[in-house]
Amino acid sequence: MPELFIDGRWTAAVDGQVREIRCPADGTPVATVDEAGPKDAAAAVAAARDAFDRGPWPRTPAAERGRLLLRVADFLERDKADFARAESLDTGKRLVESEIDMDDIANCFRYFGNLVCAGGTERVIDTGDPAVDSRVVHEPVGVCSLITPWNYPLLQTAWKVAPALGAGNTFVLKPSELTPHTAILLMRLLEEAGLPPGAGNLLLGSGATVGAPITTDERVDLVSFTGGLVTGRRIMAAAAPTVKKIALELGGKNPNIVFADADFDTAVDYALMAVFLHSGQVCSAGARLLVQQELHDAFVDEVVARAREIPLGGPFDENARTGPLISEEHRAKIESYVAAGLAEGAVLRCGGRRPDDTALQNGFYYLPTVLDDCTPGMSVVRDESFGPVMTVERFRDEDEAVALANDTVYGLAGGLWTQDSELAQRVSSRLRAGTVWINDFHPYVPQAEWGGMKQSGVGRELGPAGLAEYQEPKHIWRNTAPRPQRWFA
Ligand code: NAP
Repeated sequence: MPELFIDGRWTAAVDGQVREIRCPADGTPVATVDEAGPKDAAAAVAAARDAFDRGPWPRTPAAERGRLLLRVADFLERDKADFARAESLDTGKRLVESEIDMDDIANCFRYFGNLVCAGGTERVIDTGDPAVDSRVVHEPVGVCSLITPWNYPLLQTAWKVAPALGAGNTFVLKPSELTPHTAILLMRLLEEAGLPPGAGNLLLGSGATVGAPITTDERVDLVSFTGGLVTGRRIMAAAAPTVKKIALELGGKNPNIVFADADFDTAVDYALMAVFLHSGQVCSAGARLLVQQELHDAFVDEVVARAREIPLGGPFDENARTGPLISEEHRAKIESYVAAGLAEGAVLRCGGRRPDDTALQNGFYYLPTVLDDCTPGMSVVRDESFGPVMTVERFRDEDEAVALANDTVYGLAGGLWTQDSELAQRVSSRLRAGTVWINDFHPYVPQAEWGGMKQSGVGRELGPAGLAEYQEPKHIWRNTAPRPQRWFA
């Protein structure tokens, strides 16, 4: 069965291109999928435009749209095992982590389904004139290009598809060329749930070939993108000539601040999870550990001792606690950041190389790495390496902790550890980040907005604001007793 989905039909690429997908854990072939080109991209946008302008979806009552999202949530729960396996084969991620992702994805569809069903977004304005009926309604934006990365392929897709459809838009989805499978499965579920033809379209292919045209096409109204900062800047520029709405979820270089009074064992445990989860390929990874001076030596010794013990392995290895990187190219990028850090004076405490284990030689593995004595100017501290690399800096007091934490172009997330609740409140309000965790790291819920300050992005996903990204407020003013005004009399 072909894998592009355009105007309600499964189709192969016009020019017959295909791409082989291999599992990053061991290089085994996963599948060969159709690879779209510019003609397919144009056809997908045309289908989404026609479905928006003439199709039933934007005119479907909100409660019915919400019920479709709830059906999709049920189907996702039904098919969880197939989805999780497909996600793990594409990404190399541990199966148990993919299963957790699938629960989160079903919850996301359920959250937006219920939000849309609840309605109540129409606002009546009291103008003071009884003859005037003034109200603000929320309409869909139009055709949305949804572009997603490879680290949480279906989760990032769900954060866009669920609110986009809930608000009544039509879309063209382009997942990462490396991880297409769960997007294909999702489109099958949307079809099964009864989404009308053209309302949802799927393009598989590279960013340059099919991502770029769907960010410039004048028939597209909104581009919602999750990915790296460099691509985000490019998309912002590409969308400018036609003044599209844009939503950008970009990278992070997130601080994890440990004050001297923190619960030692818990803070060490979370410091490891914050950065080494999914081999650091997490936008909110706590990659910059900031430790108060007097705690530094004991804390870092313990982090290093435990980091050395983290077992690596493929998605179905039950002993593994973290997996491979997505590609050889990505591993090479991380290696160059570590080399630059060492050249700039960082001290390697563990990792810094590929594992020796012969069983891992066909995958893109890299050992959990701790670089101590880092300083804010180092590229490994400033740039998002997006791998299993923790940099450690020391601070003397609250002011220095906040200054170091905020000394980044990013502002996605951050965590802090202390038993002093007043200190926690003060620091959380001083951090310039879209999410702050106190004595925790990484949790999120679909009810709460997610997104970045500064160069971590534009707009928010999840929560009511995540739905509002896909809506246009419209003010409708009705004069119920019009009479000549004689302005020019
Ligand atoms: P990426 O290289 O920026 O790619 C993201 C997506 O954009 C892919 O589908 C890519 O296609 C596509 N793309 C590339 N060039 C494009 C262009 N010129 N026009 C349109 N689309 C284009 O990012 P990535 O390496 O996949 O993902 C990692 C990044 O995502 C990290 O920086 C991470 O922090 C960020 N991220 C952020 C969040 C968040 O919530 N803020 C969540 C997850 C990830 P191809 O790669 O298929 O060519």
